[in-house]
Amino acid sequence: MDSKLTVAILVVSTTAAQDPTTDLSTKVLSDVLADDGNDQWKVTDTKIVTDDAVDIQRQVITWTDSLGAPNLIVTTGGTGFAVADHTPEAISLILHKQAPGLVHAMLSTSLAVTPFAMMSRPAAGIRRNTVIITLPGSPKGAKENLQAVIKTLPHACLQASGANSRKLHAGGVQKLEKDAGIASSGCSHGHSHNHGHNHGSGHGHAPLVRHTKPNTNPLSNDPLLGPSRRYRESPYPMVSVDDALQMIADFSPEPHVVRVKVDENIVGSVLADDVKARENVPAFRASIVDGYAVVVPKDGNLKGVFPVTAVSHAAPGQTPALKEGEIARITTGAPLPPGATSVIMVEDTILKSLTDDGKEEKEVEINAEGVKENENVREVGSDIQAESIILKRGEQISGVGGEIGLLAAVGVAETDVFRKPVIGVLSTGDEIIPYDRPGDLRLGEVRDTNRITLISAAKEWGFEVVDLGIAQDKSNTLEETLRNGLRRVDVLITTGGVSMGELDLLKPTIERSLGGTIHFGRVAMKPGKPTTFATIPVKDNAGTRVSKTVFSLPGNPASALVTFHLFVLPSLHKQSGVSPVGLPKVSVSLAHQFNMDSRPEYHRAVVSANKDGVLVANSTGGQRSSKVGSLRAANALVCMPGGKGVLEKGAKVDALVMNAVRTHAV
Ligand code: AMP
Ligand code: MG
Repeated sequence: MDSKLTVAILVVSTTAAQDPTTDLSTKVLSDVLADDGNDQWKVTDTKIVTDDAVDIQRQVITWTDSLGAPNLIVTTGGTGFAVADHTPEAISLILHKQAPGLVHAMLSTSLAVTPFAMMSRPAAGIRRNTVIITLPGSPKGAKENLQAVIKTLPHACLQASGANSRKLHAGGVQKLEKDAGIASSGCSHGHSHNHGHNHGSGHGHAPLVRHTKPNTNPLSNDPLLGPSRRYRESPYPMVSVDDALQMIADFSPEPHVVRVKVDENIVGSVLADDVKARENVPAFRASIVDGYAVVVPKDGNLKGVFPVTAVSHAAPGQTPALKEGEIARITTGAPLPPGATSVIMVEDTILKSLTDDGKEEKEVEINAEGVKENENVREVGSDIQAESIILKRGEQISGVGGEIGLLAAVGVAETDVFRKPVIGVLSTGDEIIPYDRPGDLRLGEVRDTNRITLISAAKEWGFEVVDLGIAQDKSNTLEETLRNGLRRVDVLITTGGVSMGELDLLKPTIERSLGGTIHFGRVAMKPGKPTTFATIPVKDNAGTRVSKTVFSLPGNPASALVTFHLFVLPSLHKQSGVSPVGLPKVSVSLAHQFNMDSRPEYHRAVVSANKDGVLVANSTGGQRSSKVGSLRAANALVCMPGGKGVLEKGAKVDALVMNAVRTHAV
């Protein structure tokens, strides 16, 4: 097994990008990793990019956000004061965590060599599971900086990769230092690593050094700067739909377990534990038919006229014991009298005589041969054994599948399920007015289409929804509305305000005011390009730190509904324990020619089964993202690949099914 840590090296140099032979840094850095790296490192990729910030970000994200991401990325170049230098800025913007300690270590080592180290501006931190450091462009500076941190990097990389930190820390900081082959200068700051060792020895924790204010590195526009200073192109890297879904899977919180009563409200919930039957079904020996309980003689022949000595109805209570030669009238589902072995169907009997008052049967004739023990009897536990597992963890309780009935039958009145997240829906935009406001529209007003649409969709999928109204395009209004929303719900869905206009405040508010992390802010798809997914750390009512998910969907109604189904639903599913997540995918045949778009398109369509049982897809017509009508009657999203030209009638493509498939073409 190759257990080495993996490194990718990114050379940021416009010169080297034009002529790779001028690049000396890759070799120098590889040598440091080999010579000083304790045989722990393996260089898995090297790339050269120009000083372009977007190119730098794109390459780093390509590495960090893919499967098999390297443990470490080192960049070299672009860290100085020259006009073209912006590697640290490009990197900082895409870091999920800052690592000022690494920056400090690199700077102090270089400063000991030359005061010009003041002019290096390194950045360091973590994106997803990868540690990233930016080194200067000069091979000598790059080498010194890397040497300054290389001994501690294996531990940093292991932690960032998600390795068990308790195990990593066993033995305290001394062991870590020993393993890394480094010595501290005698006063280790053993914060979380070394409880109880250095405390009280006279050298308390030095105050944290910060060179920047927290949150100085969000990717979003600073709204205070006004329209002329906003970015003119989205700084958010464009991610693929698959990568977006992976991030949603990674960053949506795990479901919580709650104990609930078994009643109609449990429909749609997923069991958090296996459920065992508390009781046998049936709980007593019961008759399967209406007839007569009998005691079968050894030879199985039951012939003659028998006195009816008792009656057993399907009702609680004890019937007197039965002896051979006696019979008891019994109804379906009633308990067999003690001693009875079998039940003869009423159809196989003849009434012989009545009691004196004429109200009851006195004698009945039976003519049966070969009657077996237990004939027409359901034994105790023959349907379900007490203590057997009747439903498994992960199974979803449907409203139609009989799961509730099963729980009820075996006496389970309470059970553990995954709590379904509560969803808040907010529309944003100064132009948006309540859809039911009477009177004509004034110029520029738009009726709020999205809120009622998304509320209905979320309810249709079985979630509790809080209506958060409409927020104006003003930073403080938006911030307050979002804060209020975050207190009340687990998942926030907003629409509008995520495009590139100067009033598009969602991203800045999430990042700058609420301290959230935007995992993606642009997706390569149509409709829905500006779809934004973020998580915001908050304290819940019990004071525990939790992460709440925010989906800021585009304002255009078709985009909002498509992206709800494509991105929000999988997150809601994960948070409520539903698996697999998202809409079911089927293969359909196109009923007519479909035009392709350069971006992958989620084409609103009606899918129906033709007379041969083949699923065919008809477009709902014009697909412009503002077209509310494109979703009318749509029950599926046809997944059109990005490209030029058309897909012909009959072409097979995937479709995501939103609603029941019809049985004939519309
Ligand atoms: P935005 O994402 O804010 O740039 O909005 C894009 C487009 O969607 C604009 O034409 C908005 O007027 C429209 N829009 C935004 N929110 C809604 C809504 N709740 N209902 C209907 N249209 C909306
Ligand atoms: Mg808007």
